[in-house]
Amino acid sequence: CLRFGGGGDQVVDRLRSAFRSGVTMPEQFRRTQLTNLMSMIKDNEEQILNALYKDLAKPKFEAILSEVDMVINELHYAMSNFKSWMQPEYVSKNLATKVDDCFVQREPLGVVLIIGAWNYPLQLVLLPMIGAIAAGNCVVLKPSEVSAATDNVVAELVPKYLSQDCYAVVRGGAEETKALLKNRFDHIFYTGSQTVARSILQAASINLTPVTLELGGKCPCFIYGQVNITAAARRLAWAKFFNAGQSCVAPDYVLCLPDTRDALLPALRKALEDFYTTEPQTCPDLSRIVSVRHWTRLLELLGKTKGKVVVGGESNQEDKYIAPTVVVDVPEDDALMEEEIFGPILPILTVDSVEQGIDFINRKEKPLALYVFSDESSVVSTVLEKTSSGGFCSNDGIVYMTLPGLPFGGVGASGWGSYHGRWGFETFSHRRACMLRGWALERLNGLRYPPYTENKLSW
Ligand code: NAD
Repeated sequence: CLRFGGGGDQVVDRLRSAFRSGVTMPEQFRRTQLTNLMSMIKDNEEQILNALYKDLAKPKFEAILSEVDMVINELHYAMSNFKSWMQPEYVSKNLATKVDDCFVQREPLGVVLIIGAWNYPLQLVLLPMIGAIAAGNCVVLKPSEVSAATDNVVAELVPKYLSQDCYAVVRGGAEETKALLKNRFDHIFYTGSQTVARSILQAASINLTPVTLELGGKCPCFIYGQVNITAAARRLAWAKFFNAGQSCVAPDYVLCLPDTRDALLPALRKALEDFYTTEPQTCPDLSRIVSVRHWTRLLELLGKTKGKVVVGGESNQEDKYIAPTVVVDVPEDDALMEEEIFGPILPILTVDSVEQGIDFINRKEKPLALYVFSDESSVVSTVLEKTSSGGFCSNDGIVYMTLPGLPFGGVGASGWGSYHGRWGFETFSHRRACMLRGWALERLNGLRYPPYTENKLSW
């Protein structure tokens, strides 16, 4: 790994010559690297969990579920399937191509850059890396410097387990990443905020480098009808306060009818007490905010809200702690509705009908995830039909992203492109259109050569 200064040119050059040598092309090479990555996780699980605890006080259970096991499951899935993903895909032919071989060949893009964010600092770099390795690329990883302990572990372990000719970790923050981006990459895969995404796009435009953007936004949770309110509150609270709300797919705000809000509040209060006790600060199952800067941003939002805090609101800077907090009577133009909250604060807003809920959602940027809680399947399908979002899940939150068969990514301002499972392999592959033609049927070709006689036009 490189503690950064000079832009990483040597690293990129090293990886590029490895790529050009063709070493990453054989299936066996890719399989060996994926197997080594699996060993890296399994051999060092304790060290990884400690780092995640240091960065975010991630409870062991959450760290295993959402980081370690996510990576292991993705590895299993990729290793069982990538050989078939590599095979040529034959397409249907017409009369003029009947004797040709016509197929789509997946080929690796080359040297790709993966830039990660701090909230799931392990899986946000390793999951895309699995797709990139399976597709035969060389990879530069740039983990987030904000989650410094995990950044350390990734930088220490990757060169120990994977080919140093083909994979490298480059470290640093904004300035170092900008310097790194001066290099030519064949693809940039960025996870992070919409603001930084704009500079990534600018840098990528110099070399016309294709980009995948995994961004965030405000994910709504629309609750409508006679739902089982206890279950709804528990599922919502888990999805929202997992990782202390620092999930790109966390429900950002709740939209519901006033009656539902009144029923939801006591149920949410009860769920939060069940999960985190009446003294959440002492509860080991609640993560902390990643940095004092983010902690301050969240408290400023809370200070500006015109809504009423009905659950939580307590905080402690030294501990980077914010209690699971619920805010009601939040107007649409409230500070809490201006940007993605990305922390343990849940505003509840009310609407008077399904149509109003749909209008509300459609007035905003397309979200990364949209959740609908309802026991009426017609409500679920109406919202599904009349809105757009990166992902959609009814009657639960965040869990849809654990299934590798589903593409994970945003739409519009919540992101471009997707990954997980085959979708990651596709993101890091070029689909090359191939027609292998011989020398037969030359007389038939005469039909398309000049002179373009009237006869040929009417044929
Ligand atoms: P961050 O601060 O860790 O930044 C992300 C990466 O960008 C880091 O590696 C950082 O070093 C780099 N960076 C920062 N400033 C830069 C600059 N000016 N130029 C180049 N690189 C720069 O993370 P963040 O941006 O605070 O991440 C939080 C956001 O990420 C939220 O909006 C969240 O929703 C989103 N997110 C999305 C997903 C997803 O999969 N869609 C997952 C996690 C987080």
